[in-house]
This record gives sequence, structure tokens and C-alpha cells, in this order.
Amino acid sequence: MIDLIARAAALDSADPLAGYREQFLAPDDFDVVSYLDGNSLGRPLIATAALMERFIREQWAGRLIRGWTDSWMEWPIQLGDRLGSVALGAAAGQVVIGDSTTVLIYKLARAAVSVDGRRNRVVLDTDNFPTDRYVLEGIAAERDLELVWIETDPVTGIHPGQVAEVVDERTALVLFSHVAYRSGWLADVAEINRIAHAAGALTMWDLCHSVGSVPIELDNWGVDLAVGCTYKYLNGGPGAPAFAYLREGLQDTLRQPIQGWMGHRASFEMGPGYEPAPGSRALLSGTPAILAMVPLHANLDMLAAAGIEAVRAKSLLLTAYALDLADEWLTPFGVEVVSPRDPGRRGGHVTLRRDGFEALLDPLWAEGVIPDYRRPDGLRIGPAPLSTSFGEVYRGLSTLRDLLAK
Ligand SMILES: *Cc1c(COP(=O)(O)O)cnc(C)c1O
Repeated sequence: MIDLIARAAALDSADPLAGYREQFLAPDDFDVVSYLDGNSLGRPLIATAALMERFIREQWAGRLIRGWTDSWMEWPIQLGDRLGSVALGAAAGQVVIGDSTTVLIYKLARAAVSVDGRRNRVVLDTDNFPTDRYVLEGIAAERDLELVWIETDPVTGIHPGQVAEVVDERTALVLFSHVAYRSGWLADVAEINRIAHAAGALTMWDLCHSVGSVPIELDNWGVDLAVGCTYKYLNGGPGAPAFAYLREGLQDTLRQPIQGWMGHRASFEMGPGYEPAPGSRALLSGTPAILAMVPLHANLDMLAAAGIEAVRAKSLLLTAYALDLADEWLTPFGVEVVSPRDPGRRGGHVTLRRDGFEALLDPLWAEGVIPDYRRPDGLRIGPAPLSTSFGEVYRGLSTLRDLLAK
């Protein structure tokens, strides 16, 4: 026991990113002793509170409607490009910020399945996030497509071999998550893309659980389309807008279906018919959520300064430490680790399983320990690397151990 707490202290003192925790608002105030749900809602930065205030006082109150032409019209593109360079491995002109992940999945997938009328199948996996599955069910009904379901192992995730078995000349699109939201399995994006492309299919990746915690190379991996949210590891705040990536080479071919005035070639001409803007702007539909994009400026500055490779290195140490604590303290109580132990295949969180975990959620919250819970019996430990210390992981899992012992 002594050496586990000593290890937390040693890891914290050797952590080159330790100082970033102080840049978050009140990490040690309020009633939280261990926040392990950075994979669902990231903490706010101190700089974000100041930026929001300044935006409201200066830009909104001071510039009023002029703000749109001053700069706001460009925010979805500029912030998208910045996110692309800081976290996505995407050259400029391919990423926009806007809508929600759910809506962007619809816009991109609907565009992708309309490219080639002879291809009427979409391949996806049974353990993907519900919204991905539901949206594709809707598109399949709308476009008379067939959904081809790969049964994924819930402890691991999608494997290239499974994709190779089902893609063919009928496949329009394959859609998977880079990091599986339950198990934390890290998919081999480049290899799956290679297999799908060999069959002539387009590929789309949901990056919600990887962006800001795992390095991503959309351009190098040959990704066609991608979406993700900014309120998890990117700390954008509840309901912060999502992002979409559309590879440059496809921008003239794919037409997203929600043809609004903000994606028009000349929004303010108010012309008679829709003509898409060139480039990534055509992914936009209506008025962008500018106020909700303010935090992203601060978050991207922080992530750029820390560097995604360093974030990933700390993330792997945090989850390895959590796994060690689980093996030492929790498995004797019947807890199972249902996440990859191989660091090369593990995303930013680990999931623990045990019958009756749900009943422990209220007592954990009462003790100030906030993990994430996924029905039917999964407790997810998602330590956001920039805001979580090793000591915090120690406090959270030792509280869980004590509750199990009761
Ligand atoms: C969080 C998450 C979403 C969320 O979609 P919203 O439209 O923001 O509700 C989608 N997909 C995955 C994989 C997620 O983890």
C-alpha cells in the first residue's frame, strides 16, 4: 500500500506536465477529491473564465453586429485549422467547428453515401457509440441502404481483419470510433483505411474519445471524413460545438445535405439558389455558435504548449497506474479490467466491470470521487492528462476499494 502511494508521489514529481493542473479552475476546491471523468466533460481553464468575460464585454457588447465581419465569420474555419494542426494532423482547409457530433455524423455520412449510387452498404460495429449507430440507421432508412454490422468484442474493439471480411464493391462507407467509448480500444486507423480503400469505400472516424488525448494523423492515415467533440479532452464546456474533417481531395465531390446560408458561397448576397462555398466552409449550415467557441481558443493554446505527444505519454502512465491499482486492490472484490492492457492499443481511459457497480455511484459521488458509469456495469476511469494528477487517481481508486470492502 505504502509503495502505491509513494509511486503516485514519484510519478507526480517526475511529471513534466504537472504544472498544467494549476491552470484549471479550482482543481482542489469544491467537493471533488478525484475527477476521473475527463473523457465525458473536461474541466474549465482559468483562462476560459477570463476569455468568456472579455468576449462578452468587449466583442459582443462593444462590436455588436459588426463582430461578424470583424472576425466571427472566420472562427469556424480558423479554429478548425488550428485544431487540425494542434491535434488532428490535418493541413489547413479541411476542418470546421460547428453543430454537434451527432449532426455532423449525419451531414458527412449522408454526403458519403450519395457519392456512388451502386454502393448501398455501410459497415459499422455493434459497440460503437449509440448516436453513431442511430444516425446511420436513420440514413439507411432514408436512402434505402443496408447496414452491415461487425460484432465487436466489447473488451477490445474493431480489428482490421473483421473489416477485410465485409467490405466489397457494395460498400459506400465504413464508420468506426478511433477509441472505443466503452473499452478504450485504440483502432488501427491507417490499416483499416487501407483495407476499406482497397474495396473502394470511404472511411469515417469518430474521434470523440481520442481528440486531445491520443495523437491523430488524419492526413497521413488517409482518413476521408472525421468528426469529434470538443467538450471531452478539449475542455470546451458542456455542449461545446463539434468538429468535422473532410479530406481536401473530396471537397468537390461530397455534398453535405443541410444546405444553409452559412455554407453558401456568398452568405450575405441572399441569392436565389444554393451554391456551396469552396473548401471546408461548405460543411457549415446555419449561424455558428460563436459564444460556445470562445473556450476553444484557450484550450488549443494550452494543448499546443503542452504538445499532444507529451499528453499521450502522461495519459499512458495514468492509465497504467490505474490498472496497477485495480489489479492490487479491486480484483480481489471481483472487479474485472475490460480494457486493453497493451499500451499500443489503449486509448485515454480504462473500464472496470463488476455486477452491482451502479449502486456504488452515489456513495462515490458523496465522497467526491467522480468516475464515469456506463450501463450495465462498467465504471470508466478517464483521467484527463492535463488536469489530473496521479495522486488524484490514487484517491479515487482507494475510495472505491474502501467502498467495495464495506
Ligand atoms: C461523446 C460522444 C459523442 C457525442 O455526440 P454528441 O452529438 O456531442 O452528443 C459521439 N460519439 C462518441 C464516440 C462519443 O464519445
